[in-house]
Amino acid sequence: MKAAPFAYVRPGSLDDVLAELAGGDAKVLAGGQSLVPVLAMRLGRPATLVDIGSVASLGDLAVTDDVLRVGATVRQRRLERSDEARAVPLIGMVMPFVGHRELRSRGTVCGSIAHADPSAELPAVASCLGATIEVAGTGGRRRVPAAEFFAGAMTTAATAEEVVTGVEFPVARPGEGYGFGEIARRHGDFALAGVVTRVRVDDDGTVLDARLTGFGISDTPVTRDVTALLDDESGIRDLAADVVDTGGDTHGSTGYRRRLFTVLATRELQRARRNARKERP
Ligand SMILES: Cc1cc2nc3c(=O)[nH]c(=O)nc-3n(C[C@H](O)[C@H](O)[C@H](O)COP(=O)(O)OP(=O)(O)OC[C@H]3O[C@@H](n4cnc5c(N)ncnc54)[C@H](O)[C@@H]3O)c2cc1C
Repeated sequence: MKAAPFAYVRPGSLDDVLAELAGGDAKVLAGGQSLVPVLAMRLGRPATLVDIGSVASLGDLAVTDDVLRVGATVRQRRLERSDEARAVPLIGMVMPFVGHRELRSRGTVCGSIAHADPSAELPAVASCLGATIEVAGTGGRRRVPAAEFFAGAMTTAATAEEVVTGVEFPVARPGEGYGFGEIARRHGDFALAGVVTRVRVDDDGTVLDARLTGFGISDTPVTRDVTALLDDESGIRDLAADVVDTGGDTHGSTGYRRRLFTVLATRELQRARRNARKERP
């Protein structure tokens, strides 16, 4: 199928982007890797596409103080290959699993976050690490914690007239370790179920806290403090029963996804703890 007709604009400044979005039936176009298929299938028919690719101020990628900041036009592949990404080791673990390399060379980091697919990896990373998403509208800018940003499947706290201008991931602190695992039908496909984990230990290797985010298991990434569950597989099974609430589909039942979640969560929490201990001399 072909997309319905639309107007295309490519403003050179954020103010002009916001003016184009205000009040109209317009959509931001970033990498186009999710939006163009939506248009082609006529699941969406915006009157105007507002391409943000020429807004130079949205192209920043930098580590400052204790955050890695990724501007809205930074492509996934640029982040993946950057030195800056080393400040957030979870990003290096996850990026090769975000679709295929060809998609990552066009798709943006913020586009993935704004699109809010429940099976996407980057929203889960943002949730697990407690990232902050910066959003701009004609009324000004606001900073939204990831925990409040993902409101439902393909639904976020940003309105149709706002733009995600950047995301800030906290950089790794000493004694933190990470885990990531997903099960997909083929490499590069969206996950049937996946988890990202972060464990923090003290100088003696004693666990201070552990966090886990599940994705592909509900309408949004689901993050929990799992410090008490690190060595408690039956506790993780109970957690799976609590958080995995996708209905079954042709790729697997709810019970199958709960089993995947339990196996991945158990394994990736142990991996994060091992990695955390290696980070302590
Ligand atoms: C075959 C295939 C496999 C894929 N597999 C995976 C996968 O395994 N994991 C994964 O995470 N993703 C996967 N993707 C999606 C891919 O990662 C996309 O690049 C990503 O979801 C969207 O990024 P984009 O920059 O291309 O956004 P676009 O397609 O341009 O936009 C997507 C949506 O977000 C909105 N948007 C984009 N940027 C902004 C912004 N700055 N502010 C406000 N709204 C914005 C758009 O209006 C649109 O609604 C896959 C895509 C395809 C086609």
